Formats: sequence, structure tokens, C-alpha cells
Amino acid sequence: MSDCLFCKIISGDIPSDKVYEDELCYAFKDIAPMAPVHILVIPKLHLTSVAEVNADNCSVVGHIFSVIPKIAKEQGIEEYRVVSNCGETAGQSVFHLHFHVLGGKTLGQFN
Ligand code: AMP
Repeated sequence: MSDCLFCKIISGDIPSDKVYEDELCYAFKDIAPMAPVHILVIPKLHLTSVAEVNADNCSVVGHIFSVIPKIAKEQGIEEYRVVSNCGETAGQSVFHLHFHVLGGKTLGQFN
């Protein structure tokens, strides 16, 4: 999608600190980390959020969850939180599906 920040990161039009890439997904360091390790994992397919995941495209989500443990291990964390904000009131600010992987410290509870 031409005006999507994360699509531009995938294409290389906007620079990012890449930590992993394959044919289906791309992972990079969050520009404003909330923890010592804060990685964003995104599908190359543009989906706005979890709300657009369905039976036809959900395999990419399974794929992302299969690579998250590898990324976490490479980043040196054994315990971590995976979060996806869905919608503005839930805290979503970039409308391209992404999974935050947070770790490297004791994480507080959230509401
Ligand atoms: P969310 O608020 O859940 O939509 O998450 C979007 C995340 O993208 C935030 O944690 C931002 O810090 C992060 N972000 C925004 N722009 C960039 C960028 N150019 N490179 C890396 N991370 C970014």
C-alpha cells in the first residue's frame, strides 16, 4: 500500500534496523523502544490490523508466530511479551498489522 509507513519500510523506501526477513514477513527494531528488546514483526502482505485476519490470510500470522521464537533467541531473550494493538483506542498508531516483541526486563502489567 503506497502510503503505508510499514510497507515503505518493507520496500526499503524508509530505512529500518532490520533483524529478520523472509518471503512472508519482516522484523525490525522499534524506533521508540519500550524495553531493552523491542522488535516489530510484520507481514509483507498489507493487512491493517488483527481485525483483517481471516481464514484466507491467517497462515501468515501462524508463520510470524513460528519465527518470533527464533528472533527472540537471536536477540538474547528467553522470556518476552507479544502484543498487537488493534484499533486506535487500543493504542494502534500504524495501520499495518504488526506484533511487538518486548523483553530484556521485567515487564509491568498492562490494562
Ligand atoms: P502501534 O502503536 O501498536 O501501532 O505500534 C507502532 C509502533 O511503530 C510504535 O511502537 C512506534 O514506535 C513504531 N514505529 C513508528 N515508526 C517507526 C519507524 N520508522 N521505525 C521503527 N518503528 C517505528
